Amino acid sequence: KEKSSNYKRILLKLSGEALQGDETFGIDPKVLNRMALEIGQLRGIGVEVGIVIGGGNLFRGQALSQAGMDRVTGDHMGMLATVMNALAMRDALERANISTRVMSAINMTGIVEPYDRRRAMRHLKDGDVVIFSAGTGNPFFTTDSAACLRGIEIDADVVLKATKVDGVYSADPMKDPAAVKYDTLSYNEVLEKQLGVMDLTAICLTRDHHMPVRVFNMNKPGALINIMVGENEGTLIK
Ligand code: UDP
Repeated sequence: KEKSSNYKRILLKLSGEALQGDETFGIDPKVLNRMALEIGQLRGIGVEVGIVIGGGNLFRGQALSQAGMDRVTGDHMGMLATVMNALAMRDALERANISTRVMSAINMTGIVEPYDRRRAMRHLKDGDVVIFSAGTGNPFFTTDSAACLRGIEIDADVVLKATKVDGVYSADPMKDPAAVKYDTLSYNEVLEKQLGVMDLTAICLTRDHHMPVRVFNMNKPGALINIMVGENEGTLIK
């Protein structure tokens, strides 16, 4: 029997690091291909998929600025990095026969479509995966904030933040054996306990607009589809 999804439209946040796999820089094609298959499974059960992609595998404004570069220039480089990741992701998705659009918050005629909310919604309704690149288009923001912003704008049912760990823990499970995993958290608990799941801008945005966020392990095969059919993967913040 065909599984049916609890969600009609999702916003998936993929960090740049997630695309890196076991490499130390750049993109691991094996990881891209596996993600494309998992995203294809979502399309297979009719879920509309928006993706915001990070750039931390290539450049981060903060790291560049710590090394002496002007922060805004570094952030511009970080945003351009997300566009490269988006192109690689589209390539992998289209090789898996999943029709995909890339939109960018920074206009790049001839390479990607400019971000336009209503067009994005039409593409999603038509069944295309839409990748939102270049973050918010502004320095001093993160792609986590961009994911929450786009998720709210396109009226997604949930923002899914893909990470390398099983969810949100009370402490770093690598360092503290007593760390416990939370199944659910409120936005205010995340803020009060300073859990560092996402930056403050992102948490406040989702709290003010009642957008649920699920943090889950993308390295676990099948996690995405499990979430769609209602299984308890990772941590739900609501
Ligand atoms: N960035 C930015 N504005 C945005 C989103 C991203 O300036 O709205 C820059 C910022 O320098 C950031 C980099 O792009 O460090 C890459 O994004 P991020 O660090 O969020 O990527 P991730 O950690 O998800 O790989």
